[in-house]
Amino acid sequence: MINASAQTIPYASGPVRRIVIAGGGTAGWMVAAGLSKSLGRLFDIRLIESEEIGTIGVGEATIPTLHFFHEILGLDEQEFMAATQATFKLGINFENWRNVKQDYFHSFGKTGKPHWTAGFQHFWLEGRKRGLASDYGDYCLELRAAMDNRFAKLPNWGLNYAYHLDATLYAAYLRRYSEALGVVRLEGKIVKVHTDTGAGASAGGITALTLNDGSLIEGDLFIDCTGMRSLLLSETLGVAYEDWSRWLPCDSAVAAQTASVGEAVPYTRSIAHPFGWQWRIPLQHRVGNGLIFSSQHLGDEEAKATLLANVQGEVLRPPRVIKFTPGQRELVWKKNCVAIGLSSGFLEPLESTSIHLIQRGLTRLIQMFPAEGVCQSDIDEYNAQTRTAIETIRDFIILHYHVTNRSDTPFWQKCRDMEVPPLLAHRIQLFKDTARVCLGTDELFQDNSWIQVMMGQGITPSAHHPVTRQMNDRDLGEFLSEIRKEAARTFIKLPKHHEYVAQFCPAVKPPIPAPAQAPVATNRPVVPAKFNPHPQIQTVALSNGQSVFVIDDFALDPEGLVREAQAREPSFQVQKGHPYPGPQLALQPEMAQQLDAYFEQHLRARLRTGPALGSYGRFSRVLQDSATLGAVQRICHTDDSNIEAGEAISALVHYLFPDPQLGGTVFFRSLMSPQDTQSFLRDATSLDGAAFGEKYGIPAGYMTQSNRYFEVIGRVPARWNRAVFYDGSIFHSGDIQWSSAAAYQSGNGRLTVNAFFKSQSLSVPA
Ligand SMILES: Cc1cc2nc3c(=O)[nH]c(=O)nc-3n(C[C@H](O)[C@H](O)[C@H](O)COP(=O)(O)OP(=O)(O)OC[C@H]3O[C@@H](n4cnc5c(N)ncnc54)[C@H](O)[C@@H]3O)c2cc1C
Repeated sequence: MINASAQTIPYASGPVRRIVIAGGGTAGWMVAAGLSKSLGRLFDIRLIESEEIGTIGVGEATIPTLHFFHEILGLDEQEFMAATQATFKLGINFENWRNVKQDYFHSFGKTGKPHWTAGFQHFWLEGRKRGLASDYGDYCLELRAAMDNRFAKLPNWGLNYAYHLDATLYAAYLRRYSEALGVVRLEGKIVKVHTDTGAGASAGGITALTLNDGSLIEGDLFIDCTGMRSLLLSETLGVAYEDWSRWLPCDSAVAAQTASVGEAVPYTRSIAHPFGWQWRIPLQHRVGNGLIFSSQHLGDEEAKATLLANVQGEVLRPPRVIKFTPGQRELVWKKNCVAIGLSSGFLEPLESTSIHLIQRGLTRLIQMFPAEGVCQSDIDEYNAQTRTAIETIRDFIILHYHVTNRSDTPFWQKCRDMEVPPLLAHRIQLFKDTARVCLGTDELFQDNSWIQVMMGQGITPSAHHPVTRQMNDRDLGEFLSEIRKEAARTFIKLPKHHEYVAQFCPAVKPPIPAPAQAPVATNRPVVPAKFNPHPQIQTVALSNGQSVFVIDDFALDPEGLVREAQAREPSFQVQKGHPYPGPQLALQPEMAQQLDAYFEQHLRARLRTGPALGSYGRFSRVLQDSATLGAVQRICHTDDSNIEAGEAISALVHYLFPDPQLGGTVFFRSLMSPQDTQSFLRDATSLDGAAFGEKYGIPAGYMTQSNRYFEVIGRVPARWNRAVFYDGSIFHSGDIQWSSAAAYQSGNGRLTVNAFFKSQSLSVPA
């Protein structure tokens, strides 16, 4: 609680030396990369993320401003594109937006050539009037190239482009980059945010974060990248959210991934539907799809069905619903906390602006970095600049919905009828009356974009500049046709986009199950399969009626996995308070993807779970002396603490140690009532080992036998290269016999791979 006098003193903090980034999605890792590159040597930068909470996992279309960010980082474009399965993007094809079956393209390029008196649209309008001009898009090289699926990098940005990229791989790529520059990543959930309770100028500022393992992370400046929840800026500092849904009618998304079908096109498709619109984003290894819709007009299940009816290719990740409120936090910087990413607000993805806004928030912060202490004037300036930038972007997006000839559904009628913000209303009217666009100097979307969208959505200006009438038919015709021909001469020589990508930045293809069709020849490197493609799956019955599934000879190169774990040994980290009693290390994305695909192919049906919702894998080693185990480590546990109603978790443990004496896995059932079980587990997480031991009479030590709370229902012995898949809601524990302590602490010890596969539950068991 801030005391009353502190509220009247302008905020001021001491010098900033320790920066804490809360959250490791696209925003968190972009911030980490940008800060560590620009200022890293001067500051201590730590990033906290929770694998269990995960990231939003969408956000894959970008705009050309991203080049600036990559230039700051000094990224190698080919390496970045290969690492993120990226393709090139020349703009967005808006289908059915002006009216059903009427399309237009918003390209990143310039259309035609302007004169100092008037933009090109004036000359085009005059040419159109005299029958001398063809389609407006014919005068834009990027548009012509996109429509013919062509692309090449041309000198001097001759072709202006952005990327489609895999959001998860992008965050992982930036993580590697940031860690190499000294950013320290901390795995864990933030469970408490501490604030300065004093009466000075820094009152109310954030001082530290407590993680679920009990560690306290102190800092001077906190960057809130915790996603839509905005744990720091909103939940702790109480900054309100400004709801813009009166102008931006969509508040829900359903996203799904499909296998690629045909060539990846160099543009995003935005396809208007009766109650929203659909995106299609082609990557090298798959296609991202989604439907953005208004929940007032369409239910979640109908939205999923609509999306699935409108995708091509095998569905790799089934639809999942994401809810959002279009809008913005009233402030994005308060006291010593800056929100960047979804924590600061979310418009909607129609013009792929969120990653740009992350970048802009970050570069603005770097430019105004408060090294000698945060002061209120900096805060005010930052908030004012952010506000102006976001409002003009918001207006540009509203334009798409509002200016349309569609009135086929209540959704579109409402969009047409709505009252838009005054500046936007003025801009629309000005263009209608004069064909002129007048913008602020620092706006993201420039004349070229506004004109394409205003004309594309159906505005035909009633007048244009008189200078165009100075030109006779021959001069105007030649002027227009020369621009058109030049675009045509250039684009036709460009290679096909997919060929260019395959040669410029070929990515390793992950093992996504191929659709039933003939294999396509490719020169790309193929990742060797890591796991037994023809497993003998043994079913081991537990005494409570459930089963677990055992696969021997699971990895094709188990020694290779051990070598990999050894090579990455310095990166293993212990998570205090975690049920697992030893250090862990996240799997490389490629291996995690292989496990995910393996689970999909061989285990999902056996474990009777519904469609996939994501997975996570790690190497783990048991190292903790049994005498020092905390409360949660001396009892069995389940893996389902982080799932929601309607979700299920399945798990894998893969033994990578030759000595079976180090122990397999033992499964339990609770002998307590469900309520008592819950209270027992709550105590295990809240009490320390001694207090818990005293309360329940459970001494420090690994739990491998029945006791008065849990009964053993089955045991799978360890064996070199054996994998056990099981329902993560079953209580289990490592079958650890700590009497042979030296064996755990020498060599690689009890090295395992553990993976967790989150799914929707099946309401009716198969
Ligand atoms: C449907 C949809 C489509 C989109 N499409 C685009 C697009 O095409 N282009 C574009 O530019 N943008 C797009 N976006 C926006 C884009 O996805 C985001 O801007 C981007 O992913 C950044 O998200 P984030 O990092 O802010 O949040 P998240 O990805 O949600 O990350 C939040 C992070 O905070 C961590 N965290 C949260 N709580 C805690 C806690 N208590 N303890 C520890 N860690 C915690 C999480 O583990 C995670 O690491 C889209 C968004 C949506 C919803």
